[in-house]
Amino acid sequence: MKWEVRVMYKKGVDDPEGLTTLKGLRILGFKNVKNVRTAKVYNIEGDISREDVEEMCKKLLVNPISQDYEIRKVEEKTDMKVRKIRNGTVIDHIPAGKSLSVLKILNLDKYSDTVLIAMNVPSRKMGKKDILKIENRELREDEVNKISLIAPNVTINIIREYKVVEKRKVEIPDIIEGIIKCSNYNCITNYENIRTKFIVEKKNPIRVRCYYCERVMYENEILNNLIY
Ligand SMILES: [Zn+2]
Repeated sequence: MKWEVRVMYKKGVDDPEGLTTLKGLRILGFKNVKNVRTAKVYNIEGDISREDVEEMCKKLLVNPISQDYEIRKVEEKTDMKVRKIRNGTVIDHIPAGKSLSVLKILNLDKYSDTVLIAMNVPSRKMGKKDILKIENRELREDEVNKISLIAPNVTINIIREYKVVEKRKVEIPDIIEGIIKCSNYNCITNYENIRTKFIVEKKNPIRVRCYYCERVMYENEILNNLIY
């Protein structure tokens, strides 16, 4: 386990180093700097609990009269398990086991460029998650909507030159138009040229109802009836 302890002077207590730095910055022409406070950061690693770290603070790291402190648990960087991509899209927070369905939805089983798949990656929020990295492809809005049907809480990161230039959270819309075929053969949308329309009745797990014939469809059926 990794912990970070941040120790700083209490408000109103002199911080000589901060003060010296402030003066130096002013001399250098940074006229807008109003205040500088310093803090010391300890990185502590080992089989230790938060209570242990609290005790370390009280006994050694912090002077309780003049200093405050914060303890933070440092998360292991799980994303680093998959190599970075230069340009493209990273789809994060896919529910564990769903990454292959997302691939199918995006038609990426036929994609000729690099696709990196990480399955069952430990996640603080989700327990386990899948991650997809698609090189040289930025997802379009309609594609993102399709993903939301089976992976409602994914994060879409658009990457350019190794940097995240756009971060999007997808959400299942209340009405879904044109993305799914109705599974009822007798539905008017299957024999007349009408764009399909579904009312989302439940989001997790997903349940939709056809606006025209009232047919109810669940996740698997939706997946099998996606219009690619
Ligand atoms: Zn229908």
